[in-house]
This record gives sequence, C-alpha cells and structure tokens, in this order.
Amino acid sequence: MIAPLLFMAGIGLLLGITIALANIFFSVKTDPRIEEVEDMLPGANCGGCGFAGCNAFAKAVVLDAVEPQKCPVCSKEEAENIASHMGMSVEFDTPYVALVKCCGDNSDSPERALYNGVTDCSAALLVAGATKSCQHGCLGMATCARACPFNAIEIDEKRHIAIVHPELCVGCGKCVSVCPRNLIDMVPKSAPVHILCSSPEKAVLQKKACSKGCIGCRKCSKLDPESIKMDGFLAVMDYDNYSTNTEIIDVCPVHCIYPSLEEK
Ligand code: SF4
Ligand code: SF4
Ligand code: SF4
Repeated sequence: MIAPLLFMAGIGLLLGITIALANIFFSVKTDPRIEEVEDMLPGANCGGCGFAGCNAFAKAVVLDAVEPQKCPVCSKEEAENIASHMGMSVEFDTPYVALVKCCGDNSDSPERALYNGVTDCSAALLVAGATKSCQHGCLGMATCARACPFNAIEIDEKRHIAIVHPELCVGCGKCVSVCPRNLIDMVPKSAPVHILCSSPEKAVLQKKACSKGCIGCRKCSKLDPESIKMDGFLAVMDYDNYSTNTEIIDVCPVHCIYPSLEEK
C-alpha cells in the first residue's frame, strides 16, 4: 500500500521539478514597459491605430518606436505623457474627422421603391441597387454608425441620412471602408466648408435624382480654382489645399456646400 503512494509522490515531485525548470529555461521575458504604456492608453481597443488593439499598439510603441500619437483616441496630453515616459519626441498631425459626402435626404432624393429587407446599407444595395432615386447617395441604414466605436455617427431616421458629430469623432477611420457607396472620407477637422455630393451624373440626370446633387455648374470652382477641381460633372474639394472661402456656400445653386458637418 505504501509503495504505490511513494511511487505517485515521486512522479508528482519529478513533474513539479520539470515544470519549474521549464519555467526558468523557456520563459519569455516581456518588457515591463509594454504594460506601463498600455495602462497609459485610453483603452478603447478600437483598432483605429492600425494594430489589433491597445496591447498590440503598446508593444509597437515600446519595441518599434511607433509614435504614441498614432492612437487616434489619445488626447494630446496622454500622447505627450507616453512619449515622455518612453523618452520620445512627439509631433502632432492635423486632426482628421469623418465626412459623409452626401446631403440629399429622402425629401431631396425620394424613394423609388419599397424595401423591407435587413436594415443594412450593403444588403439594401444588393436588392436592385437600393431604393433611393440617386444611385450614389447615402442609404441611411446605419452600416457606418454600427461600425463606429465612438457613437459619432447618427442616422436621422426621418430623413434617412448619416450625420457625423465632429466633437465625438476621433478620426479612427473605421467607418470609411464599410460604406458600400464609398461616401465617407477622412478630412481635416479645420476645413470650414465641404461639398456634400458624390454623384458624377450630368445635370439633366442629377436634377431628376436629387434636388441637392452637384450639377457641375462650376460656380464654386471658378470662385476658388485652387481648392475646388471639377471631376467630370462633380465639384471636388482638394483637402490638401482646402478652401477657406465661405462665399462658395452661397454661389452653389443646389445648396450642396455646407459650413458644418452637422448642419446638412
Ligand atoms: S465617425 Fe468614423 S472616423 Fe469618426 S470615430 Fe467613428 S468610425 Fe472613427
Ligand atoms: S454613409 Fe454609407 S454606410 Fe453610412 S448610412 Fe450612408 S450609405 Fe450607409
Ligand atoms: S456650385 Fe454647387 S452645383 Fe455648382 S459645381 Fe459647385 S458644388 Fe456643384
């Protein structure tokens, strides 16, 4: 009776010693600064930095000297604290914000059919190109809003259009790729005027599809040729050299130029 017990105890002891030795010889040492930097991040885990989450970003800061300000959620102060902790210098990029380039709601571009399927822009687009008269406009089914980790996009339920709240948007860019109509761009937060149309149609077709669609009249680009270029029949803002001339708002005959992202 005693012999089997001693045998089992011996095996247990041997296994314990093996595990302890494996722990000593095969353990992977992690840099303690990774945890320190992770604790200093806001912890949104949004992936807006381009890494898999806050832990992966902290590793990149510590091991690959990635600049802490690449975390779009970090405040200036938080990024500066991390940089100082790591002995890095920090230079801030222009803050960016999401822009939905469409202002035609369902009264400007009426529904041409009924859709009772899943409330999702991509799904609706698969059904005969969705229901809005304009084939380039916002469908208002919140695919972008659901992708935003910061609740910065609201769908105006009555008007069926997406509205970005710039004060909530941290510029992570997660909404950009999910829009099946490619309506969302990241633009400098400081830009004071925006052209909110993405339709390339000629005026005659555009007028039938949406009363707020750009008709390619060139009035805005004549007033500010440095900043506004014509892409066929569509006026496009050059955000590398954006317009600060708010007079372009009043020259647009269809009123698709706006001073604020929330006012459309
Ligand atoms: S609106 Fe877009 S860019 Fe702004 S926080 Fe939301 S997902 Fe990120
Ligand atoms: S911006 Fe794009 S994803 Fe967002 S509601 Fe409009 S169509 Fe849908
Ligand atoms: S003034 Fe308005 S309608 Fe004319 S090109 Fe510019 S954005 Fe388009």
